[in-house]
Amino acid sequence: MTDEHNTELLKKAARLILKDEIKHLQLVPSVALKLLKLTNDDNAKIESLSRIIETEPVLAAKILKQVNSAAYALPNKTTSLNRAVTMLGFSTVRQLALTLLLYNKLIQQKSAQQFDLLIFWQHCLYVASLSRRIAVALKHPDPDLIYTGGLLHDIGKVVLETYGRLSYSDFIESMDKSVHSTLEQEHRFFGISHAEMGHVFCLEWQLPPSILAIVAFHHNQPSEISSYAQYKTEIAIVSFANYIAWIQGIGSATYDSHPTLQSSVVETIDINNIDLEAILRQVDEDMQGTREFYNIQIPGLTTLRATLVKATINLSQINFTSDSASKQEPSTCLTAPHHSLNPNDFIPRTLEAMQDKFAFDQSIMFLIDPKRRCLTASYWWPKSIFPSSLPPFEIDIKSINGLLLTCLREKKPIIINNISEHDNPIFQQLKTTEFIAIPVLHHNRLIGVLYADHAHSKKPMHKSLLSDITPIAYELGIAMFNAKQYGLEKKHAQIDHLTQLFNKRMATLFLTPIFQGEESKLANIAIGFIDIDKFKLFNDDCGHQAGDNALKIVADILRSSTRPGDFIGRYGGEEFLFVLTNTDQNGAYVYAERIRSEIERRGKIMSRRFQGHLLTVSIGVSMYSSRFVTYKEMIEVADQAMYRAKNEGRNRIVILPDVVPDKK
Ligand code: GH3
Ligand code: MG
Ligand code: MG
Repeated sequence: MTDEHNTELLKKAARLILKDEIKHLQLVPSVALKLLKLTNDDNAKIESLSRIIETEPVLAAKILKQVNSAAYALPNKTTSLNRAVTMLGFSTVRQLALTLLLYNKLIQQKSAQQFDLLIFWQHCLYVASLSRRIAVALKHPDPDLIYTGGLLHDIGKVVLETYGRLSYSDFIESMDKSVHSTLEQEHRFFGISHAEMGHVFCLEWQLPPSILAIVAFHHNQPSEISSYAQYKTEIAIVSFANYIAWIQGIGSATYDSHPTLQSSVVETIDINNIDLEAILRQVDEDMQGTREFYNIQIPGLTTLRATLVKATINLSQINFTSDSASKQEPSTCLTAPHHSLNPNDFIPRTLEAMQDKFAFDQSIMFLIDPKRRCLTASYWWPKSIFPSSLPPFEIDIKSINGLLLTCLREKKPIIINNISEHDNPIFQQLKTTEFIAIPVLHHNRLIGVLYADHAHSKKPMHKSLLSDITPIAYELGIAMFNAKQYGLEKKHAQIDHLTQLFNKRMATLFLTPIFQGEESKLANIAIGFIDIDKFKLFNDDCGHQAGDNALKIVADILRSSTRPGDFIGRYGGEEFLFVLTNTDQNGAYVYAERIRSEIERRGKIMSRRFQGHLLTVSIGVSMYSSRFVTYKEMIEVADQAMYRAKNEGRNRIVILPDVVPDKK
C-alpha cells in the first residue's frame, strides 16, 4: 500500500470517529505548533524563537522565571528572551516552551476519567527525556527533535480522549485486559489505533515528517518502501524509550500491559553499546527537575535498575523468537519415509535408528534459530547427553569457524576430528575427539545440522558415513517441511479466521467423544447458541467493516468468559456455539447471563460509534436429558431455545427443557 493510499484510508477512518474535523481541534496551542515547525537549521532561529514566545506573555514570563532559577545557574538575571535563548541555547528554550505549552493545555483539560492525564503526561515526559538521552548517547545529530517526538508520540490518545465520539476513557473501560495487544483492541474499538490517529493529526497540522514518523510508527516500523523508512533510527529510539518506560511501570495509563520490544528496534540501535544504567539515572534527575518545575506530584519513580531492564529485554526477545513460526521441526526415519507428521515423534525415532545402524554413541539434531542466530540442540540420543534440568545447549552461529563453518556455508557434510582441527570447542563440550556434521536442508535452505559421534567407542569415522547419512538428513529436511505445513493447515482448518475462535467443524469434534462417553458426564452438559440481534440492520447502517469489528468484540467477550475445559466457537455468520461440560441449569444460566450483560454493556459504550446501534445477543441453551441420543438433537433444541428468545423480544436467555425466569 502506498503512503498516499494509506493516508487517505486513515483520514477517512479518523473522520468517522471524531466529533469534529481534525483541523478544527484546538488540541495543541498555535504557538506550540509554530515552535514545532521551527527547525533547528532555520536562519536567525534565535530571533524567530523569541518572537514566537513573546506572543504568549504568560509563557515568556514563565520561561524567564525558569531561566533565572537556580537550576540554570546563570551568572546574571536576565529579562531579555533573546538573551535567555542565546545563553541557554535554542534547543533548551524551545524544549522548555513546548513542554510548558503542551502541559498547560493537556492538564487543564478536565476529562481525566479512566484516562488519567497526569499519568499520561508523566509517561510522555519520561519517554521524551529518555529518548533524548539515548539519542545523545548514540550521537544522533538532533536529540531535540527526538525529545519532541517522544513528547508527542502518544498524542493520538489525547485526540481520541478529547474529541472522539467514543473517548479513550470509554476504550479503557471496555477493553479486555488479557487477550490482545492494546493496539489491536484499539482497532476493534475505534477502527483506528492511537498511533494512526496521531498520524492523521500530524498530517493535518503539517508537523515535520520526522515527528510524524515517530508518532505514527512507534509501535510498528514503516515498511521499507515507505518514505518514512528514512526515520527508522528516530522511530526506534522513541520506541525503545517507550518500552523501557512501560517495563518500569511508567506507562501512559495504568491499565494495560507494556508494548512488545520490536525486533527492528534492536536491529536499528545497538542497545548493548549504551550505558543504560547511567542514562536511566540521568532521566531520573530530569524527571525530578520537571516535577519541581511544574510543581506537581508525579507519582514517585521506582529506582531504576538497568540490569532488570536488560533482563526483561532479553526475555521479551526470547518470547519474540518462540512466537514466530521460525522454530520449525525436523524429521525422518532411516529406512522408510515417516508416516508421522509430528517432529517430536519422527526425529527421536530417526536418531535412534541411526544409532542402531551406525553404533553412534551420541547423536544430536541441532535446529537453526534464525532470529537468535544460533544452533539449538533440539533432539538428542541418549537422553543423558543434556540433562533436562540444564538450559538448552546452544552454539552461537557467530562463534562457529573452521571446518564446521565450511560445512554450514557450503552445505556439505563433513567429518571433523582433533587432528584436522584441534581447537574446535565442540570436542570439549561433547567429550569427543571426532564427529560428523550433516547439514539438514529444505529447498537448499539450511534448517538444521545433524551431529553424531563415537565418543565412547572411539571408533574412527569412515568417509563412507558421509554418503550413508546424507540421504537421512535429506529426508529429515523434507519431513520437517511437511510437518510445518501440516501444522499450519491444521490450524487453518480449525480456527475461524475473523474471530480466531474455533469453527463449526471443531464443535463437532468436541461433541462427538462426549456423546460416546459415560452417561454420568453427559448429564452435566449444556449446549447454547448465541446470536447477535438485528445484525443485518447493523451491517446495513454501519458497514461490513464495523460489523466485522463487532463480531471480534463479541468473540473476545466469549473467549474471556469461557472456562478452559469448555468450548466456544463461531458456528456461522453471527452465530456462536458454546458447550459447558460441568454444569447445571443454574450454572448455564449464570454463564449465559454474564455474556449477555457484558455484550450489552460494551454495546452501549460503542453505540456512539455505531450510529446509535446497540449490540445485544439472544441466547438459547439446551440442558442434557437422557432423551437426547445424539448431540445433533441437543443442538437443535438449543437452536429452538434461541429462536424463542428472539420471539420473546431478543437480548435475553431461554433455557430448555425448562425456561428460567428472566432475571434481568
Ligand atoms: P435476528 O435478530 O433475528 O438474528 O436478526 P439478524 O439481522 O441478526 O439476522 P439475519 O440472519 O437476518 O442476518 C444476519 C446478518 O449477519 C447477515 C449478515 O449481514 C451478517 N453477517 C453474517 N456474517 C457476517 C460477517 O462475517 N461479517 C459481517 N460484518 N456481517 C456478517
Ligand atoms: Mg507510549
Ligand atoms: Mg442475528
